[in-house]
Amino acid sequence: MRTIRTILELREALRDSGDVGLVPTMGAFHEGHLSLFRAARAESETVVASLFVNPAQFADTADLERYPRDEERDAQLAEAEGVDVLFAPSADELYPPGFQTWVEVEELSRGLEGTFRPGHFRGVATVCLKLFNIVRPRRAYFGQKDAQQAAVLRRMAADLDLDLELRVLPTVRDADGLALSSRNVLLSPEDRARGLTLPRALHAGAAADDPVGTALAALDGLEVDYVAVADFDPRVLAGAVRVGSTRLIDNVPLEGAKQ
Ligand code: AMP
Repeated sequence: MRTIRTILELREALRDSGDVGLVPTMGAFHEGHLSLFRAARAESETVVASLFVNPAQFADTADLERYPRDEERDAQLAEAEGVDVLFAPSADELYPPGFQTWVEVEELSRGLEGTFRPGHFRGVATVCLKLFNIVRPRRAYFGQKDAQQAAVLRRMAADLDLDLELRVLPTVRDADGLALSSRNVLLSPEDRARGLTLPRALHAGAAADDPVGTALAALDGLEVDYVAVADFDPRVLAGAVRVGSTRLIDNVPLEGAKQ
């Protein structure tokens, strides 16, 4: 596996690379990321993983600063999954001085995460479009864990006539049900135990006649940002809570879709 930091070098490396599968990430890899690498490996000639903690999608600088980072470990894990190229650019490489062009997926970026993280999806859509233009993948791989992100990116791909397929893979969970997230390492054992209420509440809600009311009742005592049914594909019951200084999001498909 090669680690590449500049757009020029990456374009050079990908010349004649055949069918490329791209997995955009912010690093601090866990089994969720690895599941995307495996899916990409299974159907692509060349697998590129990007590792970029995208400042444009963080409204809060403290959140950006404390985001977990461990490039050396990430490189080992990616290589072990057969990733060919780890693209790990600097912020200046992707946002050079004078940068001023943004992608706004208007309606889908509002509500849920968009309400609590203003500008988040503008940052996500912009960086993903840049990565798609730089890497020119045939397929790009995302996690259902970030259901609204998948919906926003699908809309962007359709609206801007992008010539690629988006694959969305199921949420990978710890044995106790907590959705894997790079941020989970920031949780104290007590916070983790409280955070476990989120997947339990969402699963209970998804099985009930009143999904939102049932989930909210189960989350009583936690700081809840939102619980809502979102009409994505598939429809999901989505929620976000705060435990300590960490925000957790999760969702479960409705209408009998399996995860
Ligand atoms: P991140 O590094 O958190 O930006 O995530 C990179 C990609 O991995 C995104 O498409 C996420 O949706 C996906 N992802 C994150 N957590 C999980 C998970 N627990 N299961 C499956 N995919 C995930």
